[in-house]
Amino acid sequence: MLIFRRKVYLDNNATTMIAPDVCRIMEKTMRNCYGNPSSNYRDARDAVMLLDSCRKIVAQSIGALPEEIIFTGCASESNNQLLFSCAENAPPEKNVIISSPIEHPSVIKALEFLQKQGTVVRYCPVDNRGRIVWDALVSLVDNTTALVCVMYANNETGVLQDIPGIARLAHQNGALMMSDCVQALGKTAVNVQELGVDFASFSAHKIHGPKGAGAAFVRSGLPVVPFIHGGHQENGLRAGTESTHNIAGFAEACRHIPQSLAAAGRITRLRNELAAGIQKLLPSARINSPCGAAGQPALCNTLSVTFPGFDAAEAIGFLDYSGICVSAGSACNTSANEPSPVLKAIGLSDEESRQTLRFSLSEYTASGQIAYTLNILRDYLERRALPVTLVHPNQADESLLFNEHTFIVDVRFWYDRKILKGLPRSHETSFAELRTHLDMLPRHKNILIICQGGTISPIVAYFLRSKGFKNLSFVAGGAAGWKLFQPELYNKYGGNDKQPLIKQKAEPA
Ligand code: PLP
Repeated sequence: MLIFRRKVYLDNNATTMIAPDVCRIMEKTMRNCYGNPSSNYRDARDAVMLLDSCRKIVAQSIGALPEEIIFTGCASESNNQLLFSCAENAPPEKNVIISSPIEHPSVIKALEFLQKQGTVVRYCPVDNRGRIVWDALVSLVDNTTALVCVMYANNETGVLQDIPGIARLAHQNGALMMSDCVQALGKTAVNVQELGVDFASFSAHKIHGPKGAGAAFVRSGLPVVPFIHGGHQENGLRAGTESTHNIAGFAEACRHIPQSLAAAGRITRLRNELAAGIQKLLPSARINSPCGAAGQPALCNTLSVTFPGFDAAEAIGFLDYSGICVSAGSACNTSANEPSPVLKAIGLSDEESRQTLRFSLSEYTASGQIAYTLNILRDYLERRALPVTLVHPNQADESLLFNEHTFIVDVRFWYDRKILKGLPRSHETSFAELRTHLDMLPRHKNILIICQGGTISPIVAYFLRSKGFKNLSFVAGGAAGWKLFQPELYNKYGGNDKQPLIKQKAEPA
């Protein structure tokens, strides 16, 4: 069987694709509105006006006033600024911050820092669905509490908290309420008035906006101190020349929120389809996200699943090879392969945590992509040999070519190589030579085969498959197709780092 390699992006809680309108506005801003808002001429005044209008749009999208918005570089910065500011402004008799163990690291690490400076931090436990244990919270919050800090939506499981209820409890005890609303925005309605929060954080790149733009909401009249010092920007609360094009992109992404919210029903259906499909493939799979269970509110797009007996890192590599992007627990934990504290907090063991994948969808996820993902997952879970995969030359990009798991074999005649350069990092051989040197090929890697025009490589792929090789693919159209579809990559990398397959073995590694 031959399957087409597709691109399926299911890691929208890590970051999102920039919406086309956002790209357009950012480009226009970079071209036409590059003045420094702090200068004194017309271009600068245009930039100031742009910032004003963006602030209004961002504020409006969360039910705030424009003067309640501080533009920051990212939500991690917003979280740090708000927490440090609360700790600094709290009276000595109120030096306790209550939070939860499932907060984003930009909250947890900031709290750990504040703890070393003398702030008392207490964590309210969550239940096995990740919801705050209400009775525990009630017993923790009292008149020594300066701040209750609980995220609205969790990035790993998608669980939503009862922020209005928690805010009421905080206020009844004379404490302030902060909520990290990064994952909630664009996926569920966010209105800071209705949530009753005093502080909140937001990030543009989670809502189809650019990386490098965030916002902190500070309720009017509440004191706040800068985190970055050295400039009058943002009313003296955030020094640094404003990133006007990023802020313009952020505002455009906020304009796009109603469209995202309108897609929530469809996204929920796709998420549920994926969950049901996985459960059918592997009945022992554990769904960690509260997917629509009554009384368990959760984001429409997030699906955390534990696959007993399967290693998440390996699964990610397998899915990546098939063009599917997912993450283990959360993006922040992937590279270290540390068990996720969030999954631990909801009762998973370290082993279960390392067997957990997070799928996060967006309005751009298509139903065919879910079906494709389930097909690939079936191959993985049934530990089947992968069918040979056809890679379109468009997909032979840097991420595939420079992937450490990819081993590229160039099966062309020497005179063909004089006409067209090959893929970078390719191991040169002829089909005849390859047949007698199969031991040169690493069986644990993904073998990508390329030939001159795309005719010999599938034959080679199927030959290797008959010899027990599993992860095989070939570039459709061969080197000619790659040059045609990827002229920039061809000029930049074509023929780089090539190695003869045979000589490689002769030389010790
Ligand atoms: N808060 C939550 C819940 C997040 O998921 C993230 C990013 O993953 C952040 C904060 C940090 O956002 P940023 O990347 O803008 O710093």
